[in-house]
Amino acid sequence: MSQPAWDDPKLKAGTMIRGALWLVQVIGEGGSFTKEDIRKAFPGISQADRRIRDLRDYGWVMLTSAEDATLTAEDQRFLKAGVPVWDPAARRAAAPQKTLSNKEKQAVMARDDFMCTVCGISGGESYLDDSNQSAVLSVTRRRTVLPDGEEKTLLVTECKRCRAGSDGTPARADEALAAIRNLDPREQLRLLRWIERGRRGSTPLERAWNTYRRLPADARDEVRAALRG
Ligand SMILES: [Zn+2]
Repeated sequence: MSQPAWDDPKLKAGTMIRGALWLVQVIGEGGSFTKEDIRKAFPGISQADRRIRDLRDYGWVMLTSAEDATLTAEDQRFLKAGVPVWDPAARRAAAPQKTLSNKEKQAVMARDDFMCTVCGISGGESYLDDSNQSAVLSVTRRRTVLPDGEEKTLLVTECKRCRAGSDGTPARADEALAAIRNLDPREQLRLLRWIERGRRGSTPLERAWNTYRRLPADARDEVRAALRG
């Protein structure tokens, strides 16, 4: 694939990709740059320096003053280009795929409240349409389009059934944001409250159910026994 121009307005690419092209075409290998240079090249994009740092996952080498004593604290040196991330096939082939430790998997599941992020079922809970089958949760990698159009592979909790049914299409944060912006202002405000609370407005009944579901099995048995009195 040929190398598109970094500032081509027709280029449909996120900030990491445009940042890679900017490094190659404007800074050049061996050249140095500052955060201010990034801000000028990508005006209004708040996370541009972070997206450029993400290139390290693709073998790009950028040094700070901690690693290169000739640099000032503000400067970074673009030492070497890595995977040509503007080529979708090359980018996908090189996507960081380190194996997850059990601790990392637990952390992802805890963050997702031990619920499938697709259908919302809790681990061990029976499916409504099939009470013989209970949900087994696992942590999977999901291609995700971020609001700025950048595609990243992110970790999510999914149940076995949703995982099997997934067609591999990416999650779309850009479409989610557009849908939210289309709500009327009152609905947006309500949604914002849910987002800040980390949950949809729920009833005490639902909250009690969720608290119960997250107990270890033996503790659930004891709660059940106590209720039967
Ligand atoms: Zn599910």
